[in-house]
Amino acid sequence: MSIAVIGGAGYVGSHAVRALLAKNRDVVVIDSLETGHPESVPDGVSFYTGDIRDRHFLDEIFANEQIEQVVHFAANSLVGESMENPLKYYDNNVFGTQVLLEAMIKHGVEHIVFSSSAATYGEQKEMPITEEAPADPTSAYGETKLAMERMMKWCDAAHGTKFVSLRYFNVAGASELGVIGEDHNPETHLIPVVLQVANGQREHITIFGEDYPTEDGTCIRDYIHVEDLVDAHILALDYLKDGGESNIFNLGSNQGFSVKEIVEAAREVTGHPIPVVIGQKRAGDPAVLIASSQKARSVLGWSPARTDISTIIRDAWNWHEQHPHGYKGAGRS
Ligand code: UDP
Repeated sequence: MSIAVIGGAGYVGSHAVRALLAKNRDVVVIDSLETGHPESVPDGVSFYTGDIRDRHFLDEIFANEQIEQVVHFAANSLVGESMENPLKYYDNNVFGTQVLLEAMIKHGVEHIVFSSSAATYGEQKEMPITEEAPADPTSAYGETKLAMERMMKWCDAAHGTKFVSLRYFNVAGASELGVIGEDHNPETHLIPVVLQVANGQREHITIFGEDYPTEDGTCIRDYIHVEDLVDAHILALDYLKDGGESNIFNLGSNQGFSVKEIVEAAREVTGHPIPVVIGQKRAGDPAVLIASSQKARSVLGWSPARTDISTIIRDAWNWHEQHPHGYKGAGRS
């Protein structure tokens, strides 16, 4: 029996595929390659290229493969883009998940582990944020992730499809050996953008707003290493296999770093001065997001080992130094 990794050629998905293979699980990768990289999928793994909104495509895979559980990473995930083009997010994220759930129900697949987001919380008064905090997204992206969670809740009530929703805080870092890593085009996430300044691909980093109600005026986020993050997915699959009820867990490190602190940490790791320009606020950004991950620790037995910010940036830097133009090699800017 196999685990279908939807979005398995993407940043987090590709790390999950390798972690699952390392645990001797059979894996089927499904990816549209809209943002994923076929180079990240190891040789010998069943790999289907197509869009989850295509019912016929999914139906054939579920009919041909012995799929027992699904891990679902396939989504658009940029806060800024979602504010400019919300319907792209409803179509790919919400409708895509609907079609996926239809295929699962039709083919009797009962378990799904799902990439959700801290963006479901919006602005919260209490830090760190627990799973009991009222979800109130400030972006269309967060709204679609919440809608996907709610869709799964109702599919559980009606069809017994069990889900674990993992609300990621800010994922960063790369595999320890730098074999796979983060490669978005264009890149918008803070740590890779900062590292593109350090390796000479950008002249400066623009900080999005300096008048947030935080100590240094820049947004505070909770950064979690991608390898720790994928460990939680394997624990969640096992939790469902052991009969666990549908559940929601935060995945973060319980520590917040401001944008300026991240730039400073990257200066230390890379030895580069990393010039900064202060720009406009980005629509949809809450001032502070810090996780309580106590529930994932106690219920799933999750124990992130790489929570130190310099370890996260060092592993990301290792990937960027070895792959300055991502998977495609030279010629990409
Ligand atoms: N950020 C920034 N400049 C950039 C990219 C990001 O100031 O070029 C800020 C952004 O406003 C947010 C934080 O860095 O407060 C993390 O943003 P990212 O896009 O990495 O992740 P998100 O929080 O949107 O998931």
